[in-house]
Amino acid sequence: MKIHEFQAKQLFQKYGVPIPRGKAAFSVAEAKQIGAELGVFPVVVKAQIHAGGRGKGGGVKLAKNAAEVDQYASSILGMTLVTHQTGPEGKLVKKLLVEEGLPIEKELYLSVLPDRGTAKIVFMASEAGGMDIEKVAAETPEKIVKVFIDPLIGMKGYHANELAFGLNLSGDLAKQFNAMATKLYKLCVDYDCSLVEINPLILTKDGRVIALDGKINFDDNAVGRHKDIQEYRDLDEEDPSEVEASKYELNYIKMPSGNIGSMVNGAGLAMATMDLIKQAGGDPANFLDVGGGASAEQVEAGFKIILADPTVKAVLINIFGGILRCDRLANGVVEAAKKVGIQIPVVIRMEGTNVEEGRRILNESGLNLITAKDVSDAAQKIAAVAKA
Ligand code: GDP
Ligand code: MN
Repeated sequence: MKIHEFQAKQLFQKYGVPIPRGKAAFSVAEAKQIGAELGVFPVVVKAQIHAGGRGKGGGVKLAKNAAEVDQYASSILGMTLVTHQTGPEGKLVKKLLVEEGLPIEKELYLSVLPDRGTAKIVFMASEAGGMDIEKVAAETPEKIVKVFIDPLIGMKGYHANELAFGLNLSGDLAKQFNAMATKLYKLCVDYDCSLVEINPLILTKDGRVIALDGKINFDDNAVGRHKDIQEYRDLDEEDPSEVEASKYELNYIKMPSGNIGSMVNGAGLAMATMDLIKQAGGDPANFLDVGGGASAEQVEAGFKIILADPTVKAVLINIFGGILRCDRLANGVVEAAKKVGIQIPVVIRMEGTNVEEGRRILNESGLNLITAKDVSDAAQKIAAVAKA
């Protein structure tokens, strides 16, 4: 799960990680009010979307006076912000963060995340922070310092020292940095974060170390045990079909191109099905994984979600009935088809538990389904009907 910068900063504050003074605004009037309350200039007006690169895309502006706060809040709120992380369609800005502008001496990069390869928590830090960190990682990776921490041992002073040394910090700045890194480690572990990133982490002209930006991603499988962050979820930032699917505990993935929708059970079968469709000359528009033990209601909901995608010109159902029995699947498909009224061809390949009963239900449903005898036959058929 992703959250906004202003929410990440609330967690930073909870852990005592220094952040600029500021507040989220949901209207221009609120932004002006917060700007006035801050009592200083410049004031930073920042678009809140679940994507980075806002600075370069025009979503972060420094206002020198109250009139500029008004001007920037008005132009950013409601804009479609395009950054290298949003894709070409961009994201509609519905929220702002209004903060005191700080005098930046230097921009650093700092992140902490679990590293699957080593099964450790890794800190990554760089003196070359700011808006071009992707370029640094690609072209001069030696400028990024990595410190691995065994979670069973935990973070120690020497880990923080190594990071501070790598960032060329000493004296009081190193002390401030070490305290901050230790808190971020705790935050990352406490909340099962898959990423905590600060870019830039700034050194101010008056000698403070402050998190100027903040990004936190959580492990979706752990969100259930952190009640306080569940309310941070922002459905405006998620694909509406994926949100609908998650209500039924289904995994729906929308693809950027293609015209074939697929319903499969299990991530492995989903990947194999995508490959087979491509190999047969087709192009997938989406896939929906109904999982191992789906009910007829879940199958019905899933089928409706696939059909609601206007780019879908044909649907392939590829199911190996295990815990999800074929008769249950067939009932779900028939129910959904009756309610939605399918106008497009549906190819179905089904094997496994209760397959005979499943086939009987489909055959007697009166629906116009194309049955395939095996997976490659299914792929050939779906590619052919999608082209026609
Ligand atoms: P991102 O582009 O989405 O990562 O947004 P950031 O929060 O990192 O902001 C982008 C850039 O805006 C930063 O790298 C800074 O250079 C600049 N910026 C943000 N806040 C301030 C501030 O308080 N003072 C100054 N001088 N620059 C700021
Ligand atoms: Mn940033």
